[in-house]
Amino acid sequence: MINYKTVLQGSYYTAIDENQVGHQANSLVCINDEGTIARIVLAGDDDYQVIVNDAKQQGTLVSLSDDQVLLPGFIDLHVHAPQWPNSGLALDRPLYEWLEEYTFPLEAKFKEAKYAHLVYDNLVETLLANGTTTALYFGSVDNTGNLELVKSCLAHQKRGFVGKVVMDNPEQTPAYYRDESATAALNETENFIHEVATLNENQTIPVTPVITPRFLPSCTDDVLAGLGKLAAKYDLPIQSHCSESDWENGYALTTHGKRDATVLDEFGLLTDKSVMAHGTLLNGEDIQRFKDRGVGIAHCPISNVYFGNAVLPAKKLLSENVKVGMGTDISGGYDPSVYQNIRQAIMSSRLLNDGVDSEITPDLRGKHDAAITAKNAFYMATVGGAKSLNLATGQIKEGYIADLQIVHAKYPTFGQQVPEDTFEKLMYQTTVSEIDHVMTQGVFVK
Ligand SMILES: [Zn+2]
Repeated sequence: MINYKTVLQGSYYTAIDENQVGHQANSLVCINDEGTIARIVLAGDDDYQVIVNDAKQQGTLVSLSDDQVLLPGFIDLHVHAPQWPNSGLALDRPLYEWLEEYTFPLEAKFKEAKYAHLVYDNLVETLLANGTTTALYFGSVDNTGNLELVKSCLAHQKRGFVGKVVMDNPEQTPAYYRDESATAALNETENFIHEVATLNENQTIPVTPVITPRFLPSCTDDVLAGLGKLAAKYDLPIQSHCSESDWENGYALTTHGKRDATVLDEFGLLTDKSVMAHGTLLNGEDIQRFKDRGVGIAHCPISNVYFGNAVLPAKKLLSENVKVGMGTDISGGYDPSVYQNIRQAIMSSRLLNDGVDSEITPDLRGKHDAAITAKNAFYMATVGGAKSLNLATGQIKEGYIADLQIVHAKYPTFGQQVPEDTFEKLMYQTTVSEIDHVMTQGVFVK
């Protein structure tokens, strides 16, 4: 008799590749003590009933109801944790104004531990409730707040990647909210790495510290060079924004005479552990550079509508095997749900495909073959995110970590429905209320 920690009985969907989603009905997903999917037993397998009986006897069987399905947990590649209180605010402002008037004043408040704890605990819980089992976070400049975010991830058993935001360029940052100098920023980043290591002791899901230059405009060359060295020294992930808007794209060209992807690369900040947010204005050369280096893109379709100045050509990137995952970009994006971003990714791609200006003739109005499907978007929210963070999650597969969600359909089906229809409806209609349970590393956290 094999003792599994939990045996989940029911049907599941998991991405096979960017175009295909696999489905199994009434299978057994057997999770071991380490929180890994040790075995998947299909309905027709010889020992199916034996395993069900054993699990029943040991009290480890969890049977999904007929209207429930199992999905991999989602991976959110771009969250500004301290912006959570501003979610849904000031989205009519241009990026530069939005930063100066709304975002920087709020982020500066996170030097106070009590406030940080209040906001971060709520954010982490909210993301989990929405089916997001892993998130890549920008913290703020101050480590007091950043360590509260780490503690919230650990307390809620959420897979977290957290970065101390670096911004030391006096010309592009307010005096009340910036690193004192390049040296101070690098010291604080290194302190953060060590303090996270201490908090991680004896934890099941350790938090990963992330090298986090905010973006090119807010950083000096000295700090970028130092951060590149720290990333190499500690072998850590890197996150930043790249070619997000015309303003940001233009800034790099004006000040450095180069594209921002080129500058980041020259400082050692584009590696196979890098995740760059947005990328709506990346050109062919940048994309080739991302491919060569193994850089992931955080596709933030809601935020891009407000600040991106263009639609990310997700279909093209997926077909060229560039790593692309999904990001909510709280609070450039107004919604903490990856489902909502899946839907916006599909809708935005339709607009890119068809074009939007009725005065242009249909043959010239859009970009052919740019539309993505629900399957493409689901792939980004699961496998694309996992690949970008080099994690063995995002799939229901033997040997993968059991980060999962159990959801049910929002509306009745009024008769039989094929599995493909069920899947599409789930992608389009699921809200937080239909997410019944969430599991990280084999433990139920919702
Ligand atoms: Zn961002």
